[in-house]
Amino acid sequence: LRQVGMQFHASADGVAASEEVFRVLETPLPARGERTDVPDLRVSPLYLYDVTVSYPGRDVPALEGFDLELRPGEVVALTGPSGAGKSTALAVLLGFVEPERGVVVAAGSAADEFDPVAWRRQFAWVPQRPGLRLGTVADNVRLGRPDASDDEVRLALLAAGAADLLLDKPVGEQGQQLSGGQQRRVALARALLTDAPVLLLDEPTAGLDADTEASVITGLRSSGRTVLMVAHRPALIAAADRTVTVGARELVNA
Ligand code: ADP
Ligand code: MG
Repeated sequence: LRQVGMQFHASADGVAASEEVFRVLETPLPARGERTDVPDLRVSPLYLYDVTVSYPGRDVPALEGFDLELRPGEVVALTGPSGAGKSTALAVLLGFVEPERGVVVAAGSAADEFDPVAWRRQFAWVPQRPGLRLGTVADNVRLGRPDASDDEVRLALLAAGAADLLLDKPVGEQGQQLSGGQQRRVALARALLTDAPVLLLDEPTAGLDADTEASVITGLRSSGRTVLMVAHRPALIAAADRTVTVGARELVNA
């Protein structure tokens, strides 16, 4: 568990290269079950009940007594101060972090009964600092769906606010040659190209101008997906069906 927590932290902070993010996504974690009959989140709501997460070496829980209901097709904004546990809530849903208390439930079963790879197939995740792979823009977007046509890749980039990015633009091993904002656009396009029913987006419009942000919001809403997004910007919060605030607690610099 300690190792998983650390791996997640490394990824979320952009310290780890993209390969590490993918390794985490593909590695079955020992603490989880083997069921592959994961509930279809196109029809089943997802619940977090009373979830508390404590990271090793921290006195204060990163997330405490957190409840969330995510119904199919709704767009929910997750707000709250920096350090409140928003990214941690996404990590719990993805099964990267095991709660100390509380459960994730879908269709009457706890998430940790399921094979982690099968479970994560229900989600497309765009972390705050997504990793990219060596190749082209198109290669990176196509990680979402390898058989996508060039037109489908272009449409995904358009919906992600990156219509200006050329498909054959080279991408360095850690995404060099693209700005941070462009890297996030590519990662969002990749997520939109998957057929995952639930999008988990950590500040998807950070760094965008208002017009591009508006087009990204339109793209998200028209994707028909269930969206849980960490949101700070007013336009993004306004675009949500509902806002859930992650509790402000005393933040201790431990
Ligand atoms: P938010 O996304 O709302 O800014 P986070 O979920 O990233 O908050 O973090 C919540 C708290 O947990 C912060 O105090 C953060 O420093 C701490 N934290 C996050 N990940 C780890 C980790 N892997 N190990 C230790 N502490 C962590
Ligand atoms: Mg965060």
